[in-house]
This record gives sequence, C-alpha cells and structure tokens, in this order.
Amino acid sequence: MLRVGLTGGIGSGKSTVAARLRELGALVIDSDVLAREVVAPGSDGLAAVVERFGDGVLAADGSLDRPALGAVVFADETARRDLEGLTHPRIARRTADLAAGAAEGQVVVHDVPLLVEKQMGPAYHLVVVVGADEEVRLERLVRTRGMTQAEARSRMASQATDGQRRAAADVWLDNDGTPEELRAEVDRVWRARLTAYEHNLLTGSRSRGPRVPTLVPYDASWPAQGRRLTQRLTHVLGARAADVQHIGSTSVPGLAAKDVIDVQVEVARLEDADEPGFVEAMARAGFPRAEGNLQDRPKPQLPDPRQWRKRFHGSADPGRVAHVHVREAGSAGWRFALLFRDWLRDDAEARDEYEAEKRRLASVSASTPDYADAKEPWFDRALPRAEAWAVSTRWTPEGVREAADA
Ligand code: ADP
Repeated sequence: MLRVGLTGGIGSGKSTVAARLRELGALVIDSDVLAREVVAPGSDGLAAVVERFGDGVLAADGSLDRPALGAVVFADETARRDLEGLTHPRIARRTADLAAGAAEGQVVVHDVPLLVEKQMGPAYHLVVVVGADEEVRLERLVRTRGMTQAEARSRMASQATDGQRRAAADVWLDNDGTPEELRAEVDRVWRARLTAYEHNLLTGSRSRGPRVPTLVPYDASWPAQGRRLTQRLTHVLGARAADVQHIGSTSVPGLAAKDVIDVQVEVARLEDADEPGFVEAMARAGFPRAEGNLQDRPKPQLPDPRQWRKRFHGSADPGRVAHVHVREAGSAGWRFALLFRDWLRDDAEARDEYEAEKRRLASVSASTPDYADAKEPWFDRALPRAEAWAVSTRWTPEGVREAADA
C-alpha cells in the first residue's frame, strides 16, 4: 500500500489537492478531522483530557473548549506534551484503522498540516507539498476565509518555512497559478508517480536508470534527496541498521553523475539483511530486494571476496531511481564507499580527474553495466591516493558517523 503524506502551509491549496486526489480514487485521511474526533463529546479521549486538565477546558455544552485548553498548553511545555501524549496515540490508532480499510492497490493519502513541523516525512513513501507564494496565500486567506492580514501573517509565521517544506518534499505542487493548472498538475502526478509507484509496490518492481550511461551536471537537490532516502530507511529499519549513509557520486558536491542516488545501509552482520523481516520491511517501504549483485569487485590490494559481499535493493519510486547497498560494518566494501566519498568531497583535483574519466567512459561505453565496469581501474589506481589522504587527515569511517551525529 502506497502511503503519501500531503502537506502545505496554510492557504497553499492543500485541501483543494486532497479533494482532487479523493476524486481520482485515493483514500484520504484528514488528520485535522481525526484530531477533533478523538476529543469529541462522549469520547474516551475527551474524558482523559478533562481528567488531566480539569473541567475548566469544557464548554457549557460539554464539548472541548479549545481556546481554554489552548491557553493552558500554549504557556506550558509539559502541559502540551501531556496533551499530545493523550491525543497522538489515539489519532495514530484511528489513522491505522482507516488505512486498513483501503482496497488492494488503493493509494492512501494522509493529509497532515504539520507534517514538516513534526518531522513526519520519513514515515511515508512520498511527501507531496503544495506550495504558493506567501503573498498569494495571504490574499486567498483574506478573500476566502475572512481572516485579517495580521491573522493570516501570524498563522504563517508559526508554521515551517518554504525552505523547510522544499527540503521535505519529494513532489512539489506549485499553486501560484489557476485552479485549473493545479488540477492538471495533480492529475499528472497521480498518473505518473502515485499510481505507478503503487503498481510497483504490488508487483515488487523497481525503477531503473537509462540503459546507456547518461551523466547529468551536479544537481544541488541531491543532498536533500539523499537525506530523505537515508531518513526513510532509518525509520523503516530501526535497530536493524547500524547506520544509513548517502554515498556515491551524487553525495559529492560538484560532481557530474548518473541521476541515481546511492545509499549504504550498514548492518552488524550481512546475514541480518537476509532475514525475512528485513527483506519484507524494505519491500513494503518501497525498496525491493534485487537478486544478484551480491558482490562488489575486490580491489587488488584486498582481494578477499568475502570482504566485498553485499545485498542490493532498488527503489519502487518511478520518480527516483536509487540503489541501496547493504554492507557489513567493517567490511572492505563498506569502508571504501565512505573513504572515496569523503576523499572526493575534500580533494578538488581528484574530483575533476574522476569526472573527466567518467565523461570519457560514458561516451565510449555501450551500456550502463559496461560503464560501471570500465570505471573500476580508475578506482584501483586512485586507491593509494585515497589511503594517503586518509592517513594525512586521520580519517576513519567511525569518525564520519561521529561528525554526522555532532
Ligand atoms: P489549505 O488547505 O492549504 O489551507 P485551501 O485548499 O483551502 O488551502 O485553499 C485556500 C483557499 O484558496 C481556498 O478557498 C481555495 O478554494 C483557494 N484556492 C486554492 N487554490 C487556488 C488557486 N490556484 N487560485 C485561486 N484560489 C485558490
């Protein structure tokens, strides 16, 4: 089942998009509606809130007095946490119940206004953000919701910034234009991305890059794309993965590359990646295992093939080709992925040399696998330089993780 998180700043057009997705056949779960439902009159959620905060948060008719409760939690961080501790699990249970009612092959859209603020993106296969210029949103809110300019501005100021939303968005729906333009864009994304992704999940298929090697200039959005993938995998795998890292050419700023995001999942023992729980969790999350490709090519300096074993997963997202290499912590293959990335990030001359070699090989290789093989000798030759760099900078793979944690 494809789970899409839909969000957008107030007045962006999120509700308009949700309505269109419902028409197209999605099961839309509105978290605002659920948030009201779990504290509706007569609910056990309301009883729990009254028990914690007292009768003062009830209106005369027995319903929740939101402004009164808001005043309490606005001023008191502990009170806010307590309230969330009562409402969030109930919303999560209702969400799961509703999602379980989806038909086979039905796309489930979670409409969550504060998805970015609450950092919930990694829990979804895809995050769709509706965006519009602040002035445009302001004008719409004043015109259609009767807000004053000041009210609308203060609501927007309390939410995430556009930059934060862009970093979280797998799909950005621009709504600066007409409603018709927005609708056409939603319909296109529905066809080309959402239903195609759902189909891949059902069939266990993965998306693939071009058959002939195709280099594109460095894309400044690659780091954010890599971060979304590593965060998603971290969320999916939990304790099954020791760490998840963006590796490969797209993780080296400035380097031209094939438009494929490489990610390394670090496991304590490679056998952990063969457990059905691991393989199934990955497939459900949109990273189906690809059989074959169980081995990186050993470098002459370290010829033991056991040091170069791996498992390989693709991406079911038709809009994002990704290669997930699962490697054992401490193995040669694991270490080299990190060493080459960090060296190329640091050494502009090596980066330029590698890019020139990539361009030359891409122009003479008949297929993408041929190209990948043809690159190996450059890496073999470059390895002593990378190792010398590691010594001179006191690089260690563990240091990489510590730096990332800091
Ligand atoms: P949100 O749910 O993000 O707060 P809505 O979907 O409710 O935003 O849109 C805010 C208001 O702007 C609604 O009244 C909606 O009908 C209107 N609206 C949405 N998209 C457009 C558009 N492209 N042009 C003009 N008005 C729009």
